[in-house]
Amino acid sequence: MSDYIFPPALQASVAVRGTGARYAVSRIFCVGRNYAAHAREMGSDPDREPPFYFCKPASALLASGGSMAYSPGTKNLHYEMELVLALGAPVFKATAEQGLAAIWGYAAGLDMTRRDLQNEAKATGRPWDFGKAFEQSAVISELVPASEIGHPAAGAITLAVNGMQKQRGDLADMIWSPAEIVANLSQYYHLGPGDLIYTGTPEGVGPVQPGDQLEGVVAGVAKLSLTIGAPE
Ligand code: MN
Repeated sequence: MSDYIFPPALQASVAVRGTGARYAVSRIFCVGRNYAAHAREMGSDPDREPPFYFCKPASALLASGGSMAYSPGTKNLHYEMELVLALGAPVFKATAEQGLAAIWGYAAGLDMTRRDLQNEAKATGRPWDFGKAFEQSAVISELVPASEIGHPAAGAITLAVNGMQKQRGDLADMIWSPAEIVANLSQYYHLGPGDLIYTGTPEGVGPVQPGDQLEGVVAGVAKLSLTIGAPE
């Protein structure tokens, strides 16, 4: 039996509301533009082009209620408030119906983004990793099982910064529904328990500053909060 030279990283996980149990996370997928008005504010045509994705490492998770350092290497750190899906069953090359059945629970999330680095990557045709896949960039509330709340198809999704509402959308305005996203992504990956999917943000994204207090709500699902700390 071999040993590790350095101790392995702690298992990334998310609290499950109302229980002492945690949901172990292996991968985090994120949908790019999934609300028409946000697609327009980012300068693209939202006419139901196929969804596209980027990933964050599971180690980027930060629980709601915490504080994140203002991220290094950026002068334009943005919030993106999103509904998050947590899968609970193996799913591969699924239909939308099978995709929906594989969703175990939901959470509220923030896809924190180094917008200046993302925009530079877009302009130069380089990967988005530096803009998206960085430490503390995947903020998440407790997970809520679908067995308790059902599968939300509509409801307000909002974000306030220092008490001022900045984002407001409705889950019904997603270009691709959660079921369709799981079905589409499962054409490319063997998905299953441990996979989180951030489903895209409505319009109104913008910058944060050290000291800002963020409060997000996905109606009928969960709330989250985040404090922006000083730059490291
Ligand atoms: Mn996003």
